[in-house]
Formats: sequence, C-alpha cells, structure tokens
Amino acid sequence: MNSPLIDPTAVADRIHDLEERLANLSGGRTRLLPVTKAFGPEAVEAVLAAGHSAVGENYAQEILAKDDALAGWDVAWHVIGSVQRNKVRRLAGRVAVWQTVDRPALVSEIARRAPGDRIMVQVDPLGFPGKGGCPPGAVEDLVGQALDAGLRVDGLMTVGAQGDTAATGRAFRVVADLADALGLVERSMGMTEDLEQAVASGSTLVRVGRALFGDRPPRGGR
Ligand SMILES: *Cc1c(COP(=O)(O)O)cnc(C)c1O
Repeated sequence: MNSPLIDPTAVADRIHDLEERLANLSGGRTRLLPVTKAFGPEAVEAVLAAGHSAVGENYAQEILAKDDALAGWDVAWHVIGSVQRNKVRRLAGRVAVWQTVDRPALVSEIARRAPGDRIMVQVDPLGFPGKGGCPPGAVEDLVGQALDAGLRVDGLMTVGAQGDTAATGRAFRVVADLADALGLVERSMGMTEDLEQAVASGSTLVRVGRALFGDRPPRGGR
C-alpha cells in the first residue's frame, strides 16, 4: 500500500485546528471523523496519536489491510463507502459503525453476521445515481427493520452534491428533519468541501479526509 508521506505532527496540528474550528462553529455539537482512505496505516497511526480512535474508510479491503497492519491498536472503524453484501462477513467484528446501510438485504446481513452492531442509514435525498443511499421515504422502514433485527441505529448519513451548494443545503435539511422526526441523534453530514454548510445544518459528525491529509493518490495507480 503505497501512499504519500504522512507527517504525524502536521496531521495532529490540523486535527486540533479543525476541532477548534468545529467547536466554535457548532458550540460543541459537531464532532470530527478523520477519513484515511487511500492513505496507509501510518495515516491511521497519526490519527490515533492525535487522540482519536474513530476513523472513516470507504473500502473493505483497506479496512482489513490497515486493521491487520495495526493489530494491537484499538481503531473504531466507520464504514463510509457502499458495502457489498458479500463483504459483511469478513468485516464483521472489526467495524464500530456501519454508516452506509441503505437496503433491507444489507440490514439482514449485518444483523446476521455482526449482531447488535451500530449502524446509520444512508439517505440520498437528491436521487444521485451510483452514490448509495435510500430515498427519504424508505428510511423509516429501514430503521424499523434494523431495530427489530437487534441492531443499534445511531442516526442518518448523507453525502452532499459536489459543487452544488444549493442542492447540498437541501439534502442536509431533508436528512436533519428526518433524523428529528425519527428521534435519531447522529447526522453524519459534511466533508472537506461542505463542512461549514453541514455544521450550519446540524451535522453531528463531519467526515474529513483532504483537509487533514492532503490530496489523495489516485485509486489503483501508484
Ligand atoms: C472520501 C469521503 C469523505 C472525505 O472526503 P474529503 O473530501 O477528503 O474530506 C467523506 N465521506 C465520504 C462518504 C467519502 O467517500
């Protein structure tokens, strides 16, 4: 796993600066989830050294490889990329929060392989093809199914519309309103590009990669 050099001191500084900014913007409501996808285990080590244990990752393979490389460290992995059903079994027991649950078959599989785990339901209020997430109208049933299956539902997650501030604002509002209506605490909304907007919309968890680690190397290359 080749990746650009990570400077742990610089990463720690950026984490602490961003946390201070989030605290000021949100009054303490919004927490930071560092996202280490495309970077090696040393990025995760830098996050741990800065006092964080929760880390976001998109790809099952990267979670497995980094979790193996960091055996002995206690990393609370958040799955933030779409999960194929056949990856759940291998990931089970290693994941702290499955943030991208968006269909009944995935709820059943997680409940079967990782009973009692924490999840979020990923919502796609804008109807983007290929980004994952269920329509707002499907959220209540999925939450109910997950609870009936013994999973813990922390809240809702969504991804904004890159480069479209107005659409992103609409999406964040829909998700925050849904979380309110369903009595769910967590709203995982916002990344480097739209984190201020997410905080203003009531995000409780921003998922941030580039602002902490710099630009990612291209996938599959290098
Ligand atoms: C990559 C990714 C992030 C982090 O994005 P940055 O632009 O690096 O902050 C957050 N959420 C999801 C779902 C992602 O795929």
